[in-house]
Amino acid sequence: MTDVEERIAHGPIADAVRSGVLPGRVWLYSNYHCNLACSYCLTESSPRSERRELTAEQMIAIAEQSKDLGFTGVGITGGEPFLLPWLTDTVLDMVEFLPVLLLNNGTLFAGDRLERAARLAHPDIALQISLDSHLADINDMARGPENFAKVVASVPRLIERGVRVRIATTTGGPLDSSHLDPLRALVASWGVPPDDHIVRPIVRRGRADEFGLGVQAIARDIPSELCITADGAFWGSFGPTVSNGRLDTDLLLTRTILPVSVPANALLAAISGMPEGADATLGIR
Ligand code: SF4
Repeated sequence: MTDVEERIAHGPIADAVRSGVLPGRVWLYSNYHCNLACSYCLTESSPRSERRELTAEQMIAIAEQSKDLGFTGVGITGGEPFLLPWLTDTVLDMVEFLPVLLLNNGTLFAGDRLERAARLAHPDIALQISLDSHLADINDMARGPENFAKVVASVPRLIERGVRVRIATTTGGPLDSSHLDPLRALVASWGVPPDDHIVRPIVRRGRADEFGLGVQAIARDIPSELCITADGAFWGSFGPTVSNGRLDTDLLLTRTILPVSVPANALLAAISGMPEGADATLGIR
């Protein structure tokens, strides 16, 4: 066993991950701007949003240090990560350390961008693309015109190129079978396995709060994943939201993001004593 493996085997973070007290995935908000402006967006993202970008070097360091601490994966979200021209190269560097789940809106995969994304065909990289309905008009109500058309064109193109795609459906309330069954059939028609189709509620933070959409959530409702942004580290990927143009800090753990041991230990202290699963009452882990 190497020195690093010895440290992982006995570190407090690794122990907490192994026992299920601490979720294994570390989230990164790569940026906050987006080509869309969805009505339920947690971060009030739009093309005019403050970018709040992590650098490529920070993202690679977070992946490397997270592995050393005993975390088991990283997730990248935003904003729209694929607006960053250096994203693909950075993800390929990060996956040298940990598996990467990359959330995106699926609208930017044409021409050169599609071929750049095709380089992400890797067993430990998955692209999680948002699609809320099998009906274009319902999907596009929250996400904007032409969103459905772009997503249903992009997903098969990515899959043809060997990229692993997951689909995430965000809903304002429970979906009945007349809506869910055809949506699941559409997703299955692309060859996406049922376990790679996630259906979760809108969380009432950010722009969703402004419009009164979704479910109210307090800290213990939100999975206690470590979430790192350019502005600090937060409790959960639903933590670093934006309301009225200002970053919400109710779930801020620390302004220090590197070394990762600082925010990781702050999170561990915050969840100390909570039983496994007590942070996932909304089923959105
Ligand atoms: S929900 Fe996602 S795709 Fe929609 S505006 Fe926000 S970051 Fe962009």
